[in-house]
Amino acid sequence: MVPSDQLPKNYDFAEVEERWRKTWRDEDNYFDKKSKKSQFVIDTPPPYPTGNFHIGNALNWCYIDFFARYKRMRGFNVMFPQGWDCHGLPTEVKVEEINKITKNDVSREAFRKMCRDLTVKNIEAMRLTLRKMAFSTDWSNEYITMMPQYYGKTQLSFLRMLASGYIYQSEHPVNYCTRCETAIAFAEVAYEDRETTLNFFDFDGVEIATTRPELLAACVAVAVHPDDERYQNLKGKTMKVPLFGHEVPVVQDEAVDPAFGSGAVMICTFGDKQDVHWWKQHNLALRKAIDRQGKMTDIAGKYKGLNTTACRKVILADMEEKKILKRQEKLAQRVGTCWRCKTPIEILSEKQWFIRIKPDEILRAAHQITWFPEHMLLRMENWVEQMEWDWCISRQRIFATPIPVWFCTKCGEMAVPDEKDLPIDPTLVKPKLPCPKCGSTSFSGEVDVLDTWMDSSISVLNVTGWDGNGNPPYFPAQIRPQGHDIIRTWAFYTILRSVALTGQKPWDEILVNGMVLGEDGFKMSKSRGNIIVPEEILSKYGADALRQWGAMGAATGSDIMFNWNDVVAASRFQTKMWNITKFALIQLGKGGFDEQSPVTALADRWLLVRLSDTVEQVSAGMEAYQFDVALKAIREFAWDVFADNYIELVKGRLYQQDVSRGSACLVLQTAFDALCRMLAPFTPYFAEECYSYLKGESVHAQPWVTFTYEDEAARREGDLLVQVVAGIRKYKHDAGLALNAPLGKVTIYAPHTVNDEGDTGRTLNADVYWRTDVAKLDRVITDIDFNRSVVGPTFRKQAQAFMTAVKALSPGQLEKPPKTIMLDGVETAVPENAFSPKFSYMEEGAKVDVITVGDVIVTIVKK
Ligand SMILES: [Zn+2]
Ligand SMILES: [Zn+2]
Repeated sequence: MVPSDQLPKNYDFAEVEERWRKTWRDEDNYFDKKSKKSQFVIDTPPPYPTGNFHIGNALNWCYIDFFARYKRMRGFNVMFPQGWDCHGLPTEVKVEEINKITKNDVSREAFRKMCRDLTVKNIEAMRLTLRKMAFSTDWSNEYITMMPQYYGKTQLSFLRMLASGYIYQSEHPVNYCTRCETAIAFAEVAYEDRETTLNFFDFDGVEIATTRPELLAACVAVAVHPDDERYQNLKGKTMKVPLFGHEVPVVQDEAVDPAFGSGAVMICTFGDKQDVHWWKQHNLALRKAIDRQGKMTDIAGKYKGLNTTACRKVILADMEEKKILKRQEKLAQRVGTCWRCKTPIEILSEKQWFIRIKPDEILRAAHQITWFPEHMLLRMENWVEQMEWDWCISRQRIFATPIPVWFCTKCGEMAVPDEKDLPIDPTLVKPKLPCPKCGSTSFSGEVDVLDTWMDSSISVLNVTGWDGNGNPPYFPAQIRPQGHDIIRTWAFYTILRSVALTGQKPWDEILVNGMVLGEDGFKMSKSRGNIIVPEEILSKYGADALRQWGAMGAATGSDIMFNWNDVVAASRFQTKMWNITKFALIQLGKGGFDEQSPVTALADRWLLVRLSDTVEQVSAGMEAYQFDVALKAIREFAWDVFADNYIELVKGRLYQQDVSRGSACLVLQTAFDALCRMLAPFTPYFAEECYSYLKGESVHAQPWVTFTYEDEAARREGDLLVQVVAGIRKYKHDAGLALNAPLGKVTIYAPHTVNDEGDTGRTLNADVYWRTDVAKLDRVITDIDFNRSVVGPTFRKQAQAFMTAVKALSPGQLEKPPKTIMLDGVETAVPENAFSPKFSYMEEGAKVDVITVGDVIVTIVKK
């Protein structure tokens, strides 16, 4: 143990945290492939390398680190890898911004290099934040999805799923962002409420309402309900599309709502999902009126080249001129938008790559996983059950994993590379063999690239050692921690891919964390100005305080509102704990106690009982990923039980040199050691600092606390002891006495004997007598309280006389006042509430103060 005079007076988090960060070795957190211990593999989320590790990430990683550290202390072989999910549009946009170019100004390869360089720089910055926050990352298992080692696996997984029929290419309507110029998946469609105009116009004699008149060029049919009397005559007819003149069939469909507008609707390719449905159902023609840039195509005739908004205006003007626009109404509408750029999505029919979704096998696997909190499984179920379209995995972008296929330019046959040649870019290399069908050697490489979720949805396969040869050695992983905002994407896609590639669930458990809201209760956003960055908290209060905030904020899975007060409270707790540390180390440093000697005193046994309770609560909290429950139990024990009750009670005993001092020292050491170890997952720097003074070893190399102690008598009597002492201390405080001021004689009448080894007397600075008999107290009236607001107005000049008369009453009359009293010879009524007697107690002839604590009566003879 370090001499106590070397302990700094105040805890300097900045100095301590930096010192330990430089001392700790990465190797101590490596997953040991040769270990015989049970594995605990974490499928850590790979964040997008924006350069800023945001507060939502911080919360998620706090959770991960709490259980990673806990599991290590529990003897597991833990893998806490760190990945980086690099590909995607935001980086492309950033590169265009920084270099003042567009992606088309340079070659694909040059553009990719710019994206890679920016990503490398951003990863470097984020790694530093991870280290500052003391996350016990396994850096030997870091992966970066844009690196060949990783995206080679993405390509391998693509080829395997292509071979097994999960992946296919097809022309099919897809969600398309015309600003990003790429297809997107349903999971990437956000929804916004907005107001639009519903336009009623004459469609060849029938009134039709539409919010998107610019789609008139893409009109392929008019639909009515089969039972609608009004349109029986249209059965089997065609109608002429206004302004464009092409003929379209009238179809009958139960899904048409006869009560909406005129009951007739136009079907366009494609206005919405319903159009796609009808288009398939009735086998209608395909008219592409909007292209990939969101401009009108050839079939739009004179409107060709206009964007959709401009086209809408012109068409409406033309309708008005032709007098076919009848009226317009405002309409509230939910519109699907691109989740990255908020542009309203179009549904375009495109040749794209898809993954077949098999809801049953995904649900089966989802049900084999334990969900924390449990209700998050419902979100997955709901999502899977409403799935209608397959997952579109091709993107028309650049910075992404290339789709590893070629097409023969002569016969169109598809060629794939040999698995051992992966990774490849089919736009840069050619197939090694000629076309198997026609023998041609002329190929064109696929220019579409893969959705980034194709990379990140094999993160678990990557960390568990998947290489395509059989099941990965460490698969399935034990846990997937992630936010509830990506259940439909990352969790869903990962389950899908694991089942498709291995036939198994990806993890045993999934832990879903909430979002972090700003101090105003709203989602953090630049426009609200309520963004809190972890670096700011780190510099003001340190990593341990930020980590405590993460644990205490809310139950796992709930959203957390950020609150500076919580961080301040966390920092105060460290100050309190540092004072406890100093006290404990100074006392223990004096030595003179035998670690083998028994714990005898009541307060000591009581503390061990409470410690045992706390260990049980904290362990249960950690096992169930309820970090708020665990840390709350630690804080309450440290602050209320240990510091405010126990230490105050035994201080006096520790200052003297006799046998019972050893018992207190032993308990002090046991409790302090346990506190350090229980705090280690939450406040790794602080716990390390305290423990190093106590034992000169790393707390993170210690096993988890398994202390148990049963002593029902100690619990019962000890609870009584601390309650009584607290009651008397409050009495001292209320009487204006210093807590260490001498008190005199204190007699405590308790229901059972309490042998406190003199702790009560020393802590109260009083002569304390514990008794189990009944207190014999005489109640006497020592004074009278007059209610002047009653006496004054009632008796006026006679008030003094009234009070004199009352004082002359007998004790019995004072307790039960007479109805009248003689005043100057006149019988006068005694008003209610005019006075009340003041009682005092006498015990064995001495005046005593009496307080009660539950059933316990305490008499005090002041000095
Ligand atoms: Zn977009
Ligand atoms: Zn061919």
